[in-house]
Amino acid sequence: MTFDLPYRPRRLRRTENLRAMVQETHLTASQLVYPMFIEEGITDDTPISSMPGIFRHPEATMDKAVKEVYAAGIRSILLFGVSHHKDATGSDSLKHDGLLARMITRAKEACPDMTVISDNCFCEYTSHGHCGVLTPDGHVHNDHTLENLAQQAYVCAKAGADVVAPSAMMDGQIAAIRAKLDAEGYEHTPVMAYASKFASGLYGPFRAAAGCELKGDRKTYQMDPANAREALREAELDEAEGADILMVKPGMFYLDILARLRSQTHLPLAAYQVSGEYSMMCYAFQNGALDEKRVVMESMTSLRRAGADIILTYFAPKVARWLQE
Ligand SMILES: [Zn+2]
Repeated sequence: MTFDLPYRPRRLRRTENLRAMVQETHLTASQLVYPMFIEEGITDDTPISSMPGIFRHPEATMDKAVKEVYAAGIRSILLFGVSHHKDATGSDSLKHDGLLARMITRAKEACPDMTVISDNCFCEYTSHGHCGVLTPDGHVHNDHTLENLAQQAYVCAKAGADVVAPSAMMDGQIAAIRAKLDAEGYEHTPVMAYASKFASGLYGPFRAAAGCELKGDRKTYQMDPANAREALREAELDEAEGADILMVKPGMFYLDILARLRSQTHLPLAAYQVSGEYSMMCYAFQNGALDEKRVVMESMTSLRRAGADIILTYFAPKVARWLQE
C-alpha cells in the first residue's frame, strides 16, 4: 500500500452527517440579544426610516412588542429609551420613575423570563447628545459622569435589569458601577462592558433611531478605529475593574479585535452588529444584490467564529425564527 496522495480533509464534508460532526461553529437563539427602541409620549409604532423593519415602540404598548420578541424565541433584549425629557445632565435617566427605569420594569413585567439589559449612557437623555456631563468648554467631564453612571446603573438594577451595560466609554466606569451596585445590594448583577467601542461611522442610523443627534463627535472618549492594541488594553482595564462580559462594537469591521480579545481573556465576549451593519445589508437585500437569510446567517457565523459568545443584532428575531425552521 502506498500513500502518495496528500491528506485530503475535504472528505470530511462529503455527507451531511459528517459535515455536522466536524462543524466548529454553532449558533443558538440563546446567544442573541435584540436591541429595542422605546419612546415615551407616542401612541403608534414608528418605523425608523434608516433601519428597515425596525420601529420605535410606544412606552404605553411596549409589553406587546416585548412579548412578540419573546414569542419569536428571543430571551434577551437591550433597551434604548427615546426621551422627551432631555436636559444638560440627562437627569431623567437618574430617576427611579424616569423612562429608563420604567421601561425596564415594564419589560420584566411583560416577560419575567426575558433577560433585560440596560444600556447605561447619557447620550439618549442629554440635550447636547454627548455621553455625559459637559465642562464649560464643551468636553465631557469624565469623573463627574462616573458618579452619574454609577447612580444610573443602580437605578436600572433596582428597576429590574438583569445585566447593566455601560456604553459611555468613560475611564473607570466599570469600577464605579461595580462599587455602587455592590454597596446597594446588587452584587450579583453582572456588568457587560462596551469594552472596545470604536468611534465608528456605522452608528449613523442608530442616532436617528434613538433621537440623539450629536453636535461634534465622540472621538475623545471612543476608540480610534486605527488602534487595535489600545482596544485590547481598554478591554484589559475593564476586566481588571470587574467586568463580567466584554463587548466589541461594531462587529464585522472589527473581527480582528474580537479574535485577538478571545485569545486574551477568559471572560464571555459579546459582539454588537450595529445599526449601520444592519442597514447596509438590508439595502442590499431590498435591491436583490444579496440573499437575506444566507448572508445574515453567514454574518452571525463570522461573529461566532471570531470569538463572540453573545451577538447583539437587529436581525435577532429573524435569526431565531430561521433557527427554529
Ligand atoms: Zn452614549
